[in-house]
Amino acid sequence: MKKYAGQTVLAIGAHPDDLELAVGGTLARLSRDGARVVMAIVSIPADFERRREEAKRAAEILGCELRFLVDDGCRRIDDIKTHQLVGLVDDLVSELEPAAVMTHCASEFHRDHVAVHHACVSAQRLKAFDFFHFNPTMCRPVPTPFHPRAYVDVSETMDVKMKAIEAHASQFGSRGLDTELYRDIARLNGRMVGVKYAEGLDVGRMLLA
Ligand SMILES: [Zn+2]
Repeated sequence: MKKYAGQTVLAIGAHPDDLELAVGGTLARLSRDGARVVMAIVSIPADFERRREEAKRAAEILGCELRFLVDDGCRRIDDIKTHQLVGLVDDLVSELEPAAVMTHCASEFHRDHVAVHHACVSAQRLKAFDFFHFNPTMCRPVPTPFHPRAYVDVSETMDVKMKAIEAHASQFGSRGLDTELYRDIARLNGRMVGVKYAEGLDVGRMLLA
């Protein structure tokens, strides 16, 4: 991932923990390899202060900057008008001028995640950035079509990813969700490309240079 050294990579997730689950290892690796990595969270639906602090801690663990697009209290993405969501993403892309953007995929079963995907699709008109979509967010396995065609070797950042996921204690402690699922997914993706752990990305647009 040295391709992005000295440049900005912007990862946009609908909620706290979405980015860590899908691309935590990739973001940590990008940061270690010299990119400025900005994690942007669109909104916090509930438990504002606690989830905000958990997200900050997780971003710190991954070595990334953190932004909240809606930061004045709990909000559901459904309550943000489409043009406002597009405006929020546009502002961020215009400010950061990222070399790459990563976000949810179109086949997500969470409709609010799909809304974020579409806002990022729309931001492509502002600037030519590499555009990647990541694994559907799931707390328990759900059959959802997603076929990654690019893989990031996260063997060295897998443990950091797991620590960042565990920083979201309100989700993975009290609710009793099993974090090993994310290690399983990374192991399977790793097998696809002959490494121990990998995260899969679908490519929306990419400049091969
Ligand atoms: Zn979410």
